[in-house]
Amino acid sequence: EEFELDKEYQKEILERERKFLEELKTANEVFDKRTLMILFSILAGKHLSEYIGVINSGKEAVVLKARKGHLYRAVKIYRVATCDFKTMLKYLQGDPRLHIKRSSRRAIVNAWVEKEFRNLKRASSIINAPKARLRRENVLVMDFIGVRGDPAPKLKEVEIDWENAFKTVKDFMIKLYEEELVHGDLSEYNILVKEDEIYFIDFSQSVITQHPLANALLIRDCINICNFFKKKGINCNYKDLYKEITGK
Ligand code: ATP
Ligand code: MN
Repeated sequence: EEFELDKEYQKEILERERKFLEELKTANEVFDKRTLMILFSILAGKHLSEYIGVINSGKEAVVLKARKGHLYRAVKIYRVATCDFKTMLKYLQGDPRLHIKRSSRRAIVNAWVEKEFRNLKRASSIINAPKARLRRENVLVMDFIGVRGDPAPKLKEVEIDWENAFKTVKDFMIKLYEEELVHGDLSEYNILVKEDEIYFIDFSQSVITQHPLANALLIRDCINICNFFKKKGINCNYKDLYKEITGK
């Protein structure tokens, strides 16, 4: 059966796509065709109203600022071509929640993003972390952590009450562990500070506590965190931190 397309809406979407492509060009960002198609399908499905600009552009992923109605969102897009999919596979294989049937590069990246999506869901229900909103292939939509459109600074860029900050970071690590999650890439780079509140981000390397890598990753997290807070004059020792988290 034929149906009438909402011409006005169609025009609006096309205009947003044009604007977005223009943005990418000015920012020198290149995405493959399939990724662009997914980004546009998210607009067409009204999950987002508009892509606004690039927050961060790394080797493995790009983080965009976007808008949904009057709310900002962050969109993390994995670069399928430059991802380290061998390391990804190592992390994925120990996770009983995931079954990777095919093992093309794209399938591995997609499973990786699904893992991050689930980790983020679990984490944001326990501690301050961006809420996961949508996952489509290599694209993840989450809450934007920032104030009036400005992304929150990293822990390494702020001046705050370090005693308090350390207490909160420790508390968050304990809470995650109680819910069987280890961040796995915790440092002053993956912690944001929004109006004096601590947020953990980037749960891409997080594993559940039963994962064969969990213990080594937790120890590394403790070392990173202690090294940073020691520089801020906090008396901390990674072995004690590890003990407090695990009870071992
Ligand atoms: P990198 O390797 O550069 O750390 P990454 O691939 O690990 O990048 P993330 O750490 O998840 O990706 O995000 C990169 C940067 O984008 C963060 O350091 C942060 O500044 C910003 N960012 C990520 N998620 C959000 C968010 N939800 N709200 C605001 N800013 C964010
Ligand atoms: Mn990061």
